[in-house]
Amino acid sequence: MNVNNRLQAGMLLLLFSVLGLVGYNVYLRETTPLERSYNAFLADLVQGNISKVHVQGHMLTAVDSSRNTFRTYVPEMAVLLPFLLDNDVAITGKELAPSSTSTFINLFVPVLFLAGLWLIFSSHGGGQSKKHTLPSRFIPSKNQRVMFADVAGVIEVIEEVEEVVAFLKNPEKFSRLGGRPPKGILLQGVPGTGKTLLAKAIAGEASVSFYSIGGSDFVEIFAGVGASRVRELFSEAKKNAPCIIFIDEIDAIGGRRSGGHSTGSSDEREQTLNALLVEMDGFSTGENVIVIAATNRPDILDPALLRPGRFDRQITLSLPDVKGRLRILEVHTKKIVIAPDLVLSAVARSIPGFSGADVANLVNEAALLAARHNKDAVEMADFEEAKDKIIMGLARKNVAISEKDRRQTAYHEAGHAIVGLLLTDTDPIHKITIIPRGRAMGLTQHIPLDERYTYSKQYLVNRIAILMGGRAAEQLVFNQFTSGASNDILHATEIATKLITEWGMSTEIGPVAYQYAANNFLGHGSQARPRSEMTAQRIDTEIHRVLETGAQEALMLLKKHNRFLHKLAEALLVNETLDAEEVDLVYRNYLRESELERQLRAREANGNTIIPPVLSHSPQPTEAAHEI
Ligand code: ADP
Ligand code: ZN
Repeated sequence: MNVNNRLQAGMLLLLFSVLGLVGYNVYLRETTPLERSYNAFLADLVQGNISKVHVQGHMLTAVDSSRNTFRTYVPEMAVLLPFLLDNDVAITGKELAPSSTSTFINLFVPVLFLAGLWLIFSSHGGGQSKKHTLPSRFIPSKNQRVMFADVAGVIEVIEEVEEVVAFLKNPEKFSRLGGRPPKGILLQGVPGTGKTLLAKAIAGEASVSFYSIGGSDFVEIFAGVGASRVRELFSEAKKNAPCIIFIDEIDAIGGRRSGGHSTGSSDEREQTLNALLVEMDGFSTGENVIVIAATNRPDILDPALLRPGRFDRQITLSLPDVKGRLRILEVHTKKIVIAPDLVLSAVARSIPGFSGADVANLVNEAALLAARHNKDAVEMADFEEAKDKIIMGLARKNVAISEKDRRQTAYHEAGHAIVGLLLTDTDPIHKITIIPRGRAMGLTQHIPLDERYTYSKQYLVNRIAILMGGRAAEQLVFNQFTSGASNDILHATEIATKLITEWGMSTEIGPVAYQYAANNFLGHGSQARPRSEMTAQRIDTEIHRVLETGAQEALMLLKKHNRFLHKLAEALLVNETLDAEEVDLVYRNYLRESELERQLRAREANGNTIIPPVLSHSPQPTEAAHEI
């Protein structure tokens, strides 16, 4: 229902209810007999003027000898009854119950009335109600200032937002140099990763006001309220600039607009979103208001929100790794007394998958438990107990990661990384992590050495082998495949297809474009060229061969360097995230040990039986050890 429809319907309902009430009263007056005093009635009764009465509760309707009907109120029916009988009055009666008409009127008129009022109010922005709800929602709070030091384990993210703080502190410096000041920042990440905390810290560091509102607060039952709230929020903020507006869960209003015919609620949402876009575009350079929005669903956001000049800066907050959790533990345990037996790094290791909020919650729970047990300090046992409680909650929400999944992911990612490391003509590793992000359980990031414009066949073939590395590692270690590799396979298949049908890199198929690229590398939207059944078959066979070769190569490399695979996976399980240097360290350790082992074997073969004490044995020594 749009605004005008609501208004009309509301007016009609009000009219009906008022008419109904007036009508009923007129009807009552017409049909209800006149009322007489009880005294007058009694006088008539003793004079024998009353022929019959009808009793209902305390109300008595009487007909007198001249056929007039009147009503009277009887204080005590039991007292009156003998008199009636004495005077031979015909008595009828009925149980005391409201008539169905009056029930209807009593029940429905107020409902109609309220519904009408509601519709009318909602059609023009909630009338007075918004005046009361708005300011309380976003009181700028300068007390309880949060600083960057309170946001632990996200140094890179803080570096990214430092510029914003600098701008808020000294906007003139920015505009003097003609720089475009930041306007909107989108923080993305699962709940509890510190998005709100970071936004508050930016305000705290810059010491500016902080306005906070939830995306869903805009989308109320009252039509048009969202849009007017947005306008009000911005005008309020501009008055108090410099300041920060924080919109949590922006996906509630910022979801993709439907474009076509829309239902009532999405109509309302679009109005709100449009109002937001208008306000953000309307900022002049002099207005030092920065809008920070948070979401867990960047994928469903309307692209209009992400355009330049709007939320053009996107920052991802991931779940913390071991080190991150340790930092967060350190921040939060500052406020409590901890026992000397408590090793925070051990706690950090024992809570994989915990978000920052979970860690904060853990510290709090542990402190409460210690207090309940009348302890002077929070001990490891309290943390253990609190941990079990929180993990149970996480398991219920299906976000706890099982140890089995972690191992699987660690080997999978290690597989990618090792294949990439051992092949030449590949991009160097940037980072490996088994911290889930989005739908991916883990991630192996490579950085291209330089911006590549063309790709050699060797590079592409290696990319396929790297992509197959995760699956190969799972096959080798667990002797099974999991669906975790589906995205890798899809990617590899895309590369193989282009290699053969677009880039003419297969001697078997030749330099024929069987597919036209609509975009460049790995872009979607290719067009197929008509081909014979036989060619189609040859292409399929060739794609299959290229992919299979990649898979075999990955498997072969991992078999050969089996011990490296175990070492890297173990390192991942302990640290969760490894950067390039740390991977290199594991690699060099592996090489050194392999070399020692090789020397040892050589000595044994020569009849020398002295065993160096420093040697550590891998769980399953393989042939790989001899070959390095
Ligand atoms: P989000 O907005 O991403 O859902 P919050 O910012 O509301 O998460 O985090 C909730 C609480 O969790 C914070 O108030 C803080 O106590 C704790 N927390 C989350 N991330 C961190 C972090 N990186 N450092 C310290 N505390 C954190
Ligand atoms: Zn993978």
